[in-house]
Amino acid sequence: MAKLFSEAKRRLKLAASHIKVDPDVMEKLKYPKETLAASLLVRMDDGSRRSFKAWRCRYDDTRGPTKGGIRYHPSVRLDEVMTLAFWMTFKCAVANLPYGGAKGGVAVDANKLSKAELERLSRAYVKAFSQFIGPDRDIPAPDMYTNPMVMGWMADEYGSILGQPSPAVITGKPIELGGSAGRTDATGRGGYLIIRNLEQEFGLDPENTKVVIQGFGNVGYHCAKLLHDDGYKIVGVSDSKIAIYDPDGLDPIAVLEHKNKTGTLEGAPSHSKLSIMTNEELLITECDLLIPAALENQITEKNAANIQAKIICELANGPVNPAADKILNDNNQIVVPDILSNSGGVIVSYFEWVQNKAGFYWDVAKIHGRLKEKIEPEARRVWDLSKEKEIDMRTAAYVLALQRLSTAVTSHGTKAYFSS
Ligand code: NAD
Repeated sequence: MAKLFSEAKRRLKLAASHIKVDPDVMEKLKYPKETLAASLLVRMDDGSRRSFKAWRCRYDDTRGPTKGGIRYHPSVRLDEVMTLAFWMTFKCAVANLPYGGAKGGVAVDANKLSKAELERLSRAYVKAFSQFIGPDRDIPAPDMYTNPMVMGWMADEYGSILGQPSPAVITGKPIELGGSAGRTDATGRGGYLIIRNLEQEFGLDPENTKVVIQGFGNVGYHCAKLLHDDGYKIVGVSDSKIAIYDPDGLDPIAVLEHKNKTGTLEGAPSHSKLSIMTNEELLITECDLLIPAALENQITEKNAANIQAKIICELANGPVNPAADKILNDNNQIVVPDILSNSGGVIVSYFEWVQNKAGFYWDVAKIHGRLKEKIEPEARRVWDLSKEKEIDMRTAAYVLALQRLSTAVTSHGTKAYFSS
C-alpha cells in the first residue's frame, strides 16, 4: 500500500510537468496536513472489550474544509487512508467544490459485528475524532462497508457531544436525519452524464454502443439503468461471483430484480442465450465502453493489452493501475479517470452539506439539474485540456486540479502556510 501512495504522488508529478507550479505548492502537497490515529475500545455483546485501530487523515484544506468517507475493512491501513485522502483532495478540486480532501478508516470486518456492536464502534469513532472533524473543518461520509445508517449514528453522536444537532458534520445520512434526495444514484448518474456529454468526442453512438459493467452494485446498477434508458446496449455485468453476457443486451432492472430474488446473476432474463463468464473474462470481452465499478486494481499490466473497449470509464476508485494506463494510452484507448467520473457522489454530498447549513431542502429534480450543471462543464474542461496539451484525460484531470490547488495556495499568501 505504500506503493499506492507513491504511485498516487507519481501521477501528481507527471501533471506538474505539464504546467508551471510553484515548488512550494508541490512541497505542501507532498504529505498529509494532519493524521490522527486512535484505538477504539468497544464493548462486545458478550461483555468482552475489543480494540480496533482507526484513523482519520486530512490531506489538504487549502480549498476548504476537508471531505471524504470512512471505510470499514479488515485490511485498512494508514497508507491506504492517506492515499484515499490524497485522491479526495484532487477529486474535490476537479469537481470545483470548496473542499479539501480527507479519509477515515477502521480496521474491522463489519460483517462479523452485530448491529449493536457496529453502532457502538461507530459512536466510538466519533468520540475519538470529535475534535478532528466538524462541519467547517472535516466532513466524513460513507465509504466501503459504511452506509446511511452508520452516518446517522455518527451524526447523532456528534450532536450529543456538542449538545445540539449538527447535521452538516457528516453527509450520506438517511433522508429523515438531513440526508439529501438524489444521493443514492449520484455516482452512477454522474458517470452517465459525463459519458453522454462527451459521447461525440468519444465516438460513441448510443444505438451502436456495447457496454460492459464490472460490479453491479449501487454505482454500476444506476449507471447501467440510465445508459440503457437512453438506448445504450448493456451486454455484460458482473458481481463478486460471476459475470453474465448477452450480445443482444440486458435489461438492468430485470437483472437487478432477478439478483434480488435469487441472490445470483445466473439465470437473469436475457434476449438471447446468456453466457456465464468470470470477471477476468468479462473485462477483456468485446465491447465499446467498459465501466469498472467494483474494486481497485482490476486493469493492470497483466490484462491491459487485452482490453477491447475504446473507452474505459472508471467509476470505481483506482481500477486501472499506472502500468495499465500506459498500455491503454499507447493503444489510443481513452480512460476517463476516477477523480472526474465518480465525482457525482461527492458533488451531491456537497449539496447535502449546503442544504444542512441552509436548513432548506431541495427536491430530487433540483438535485439532478444541479449535478448536471456542475459535472458537465468540468468533464468538458478536462477533455479540452487533454486535447490542448496532448495528454491523456487522467493527466489532464490532475493538471486541472493542480492549477486550482496552486491558485488557492498562492491566493492565501505564502506566510499563512510556510513559517519562514
Ligand atoms: P457496492 O458494494 O454497492 O457494489 C460493489 C459491486 O462490486 C457489487 O456488485 C459486488 O458484488 C461487486 N464486486 C465485489 N467484489 C468484486 C470482484 N472481486 N469482482 C467483481 N465485482 C466485485 O459498492 P458501490 O457503492 O457500487 O461502489 C463501487 C465502487 O465505486 C467502489 O470502488 C467505490 O469505492 C466506488 N465509489 C462509490 C461511490 C458511491 O457513491 N457509492 C462514490 C465514489 C466511488
